[in-house]
Amino acid sequence: MIPYKHEPFTDFSIDKNRNDYLEGLKTVEAYLGQDYPLIIGGERVTTEDKIVSFNPSNKEETIGRVSKSNKDLAEKAMQSADEAFKTWKKVKPEVRADVLFKAAAIIRRRKHEFSALLTKEAGKPWNEADADTAEAIDFLEYYGRQMLRLKDGMHVESRPGEDNRYSYIPLGVGVVISPWNFAFAIMAGTTAAAMVAGNTVLLKPASTTPIVAYKFIEVLEEAGMPKGVVNYIPGPGAEVGDYLVDHPNTRFISFTGSKEVGLRIAERSSKVNEGQIWMKRLIAEMGGKNTMVIDKDGDLELAAQSIVKSAFGFSGQKCSAGSRAVIVEDAYDQVLERVIELTNELTIGDPVDQNNYMGPVIDGNSYKKIMDYIEIGKGEGRLVAGGDGDDSKGFFVNPTVFADLDPKARIMQEEIFGPVVGLMKAKDFKEAIDIANNTEYGLTGAVITNNREHLEYAREEFHVGNLYFNRGCTGAIVGYQSFGGFNMSGTDSKAGGPDYIPLHMQAKITSEMF
Ligand code: GLU
Repeated sequence: MIPYKHEPFTDFSIDKNRNDYLEGLKTVEAYLGQDYPLIIGGERVTTEDKIVSFNPSNKEETIGRVSKSNKDLAEKAMQSADEAFKTWKKVKPEVRADVLFKAAAIIRRRKHEFSALLTKEAGKPWNEADADTAEAIDFLEYYGRQMLRLKDGMHVESRPGEDNRYSYIPLGVGVVISPWNFAFAIMAGTTAAAMVAGNTVLLKPASTTPIVAYKFIEVLEEAGMPKGVVNYIPGPGAEVGDYLVDHPNTRFISFTGSKEVGLRIAERSSKVNEGQIWMKRLIAEMGGKNTMVIDKDGDLELAAQSIVKSAFGFSGQKCSAGSRAVIVEDAYDQVLERVIELTNELTIGDPVDQNNYMGPVIDGNSYKKIMDYIEIGKGEGRLVAGGDGDDSKGFFVNPTVFADLDPKARIMQEEIFGPVVGLMKAKDFKEAIDIANNTEYGLTGAVITNNREHLEYAREEFHVGNLYFNRGCTGAIVGYQSFGGFNMSGTDSKAGGPDYIPLHMQAKITSEMF
């Protein structure tokens, strides 16, 4: 088996790659506006009620219309997942992993089609879409290999005349609730980890990006996934999500999304319902309020570039986005000035046009929430770039920078999930780290400094799951920077990490005397 290596990103300055992406776009454009059924036990189920997925750059453009599940259909899906579990759990780990490897190969062949679909459905600029597709491939390749590593269990000691074995067995039916911001990577990654471990899955993808999820299930089927192993049931969270989270047959929930929904799931899933014979397991990846700490002994150009990239890549809609920068006093004016310059150079518009650095935000609700926070910011700090938006055709928010904030300001504490960054001064490095730690979250953070002592101080004291030195705080790579955070950022279940698969399994000891 070839050792794991992450999927390289595409260089779009090369004509061939650019043309390949445009070909992918043509493929996607030819299937825009179609209807898609639910997939339950491999059967296609069509409902009258639909979820309409539209292009956030152009509200008039429908990406597709997806059948909408409800409680009855969720129950049907649960029954089919329960049934499929009886056989899937017995399928050899090698065979389960093979489904993932084949799926990765199929996606690699259709890479630019998937990226173009993400541009259309999620509003991702080319590079961001390409990274999302690459990460989906990475999850499949990485988790497949992890399963192979775990298939013989762990080593435990045995005394003479005793044979002790430590093995991992699957849990059961898992509910996967996936986000729209990594509509491909996180959806595919959370699903693949659950299924390769021998579980069966009820996948409820985000209602804003259901089409890419449908296409992924088709890929899994083509790769040999048996019927009922992954069931595709998009639907409203309050009805379908709650029903399945509460369901006594649900064994675990893998959720990625907001803190509010994550906590709701945590609470509901901890309640034991009639007929339930286990405690549900929860894997949750929630929000962040991530800080870039800039030291006076750092490369200040790198600092400004990293702040801008971390804040505005994919319009700030990554959990990992850097939405605050705490800058040591002596460096503040210089970094601020450069951040403003770089921000004003950014291009924004339909991401189908390769020249646009930033596309839209995901939908009208998100647009409104971000614009409301910008108004709050105007009362809390000094607006130095952006501050406006345009939702006439799509949902475009200009990259926005606030300066001179107080660490307790709302825009320095609450997750905005949009292209808004707040800058503030600290009197020295230690104070900057204290400020960085003053939120309820603990997902990512970055430090720009050439001072070794300060780096070591941050390594110990900066309390986040993913801490980066001399770079931005987004763009974790599967198998390299396993991803997950502390405190209200979730259960620190490190996606793309060596101990992620066992979260979807239970360990069993057999001890035989002979
Ligand atoms: N893994 C992504 C990154 O490092 C963020 C994932 C997320 O937004 O949930 O940028």
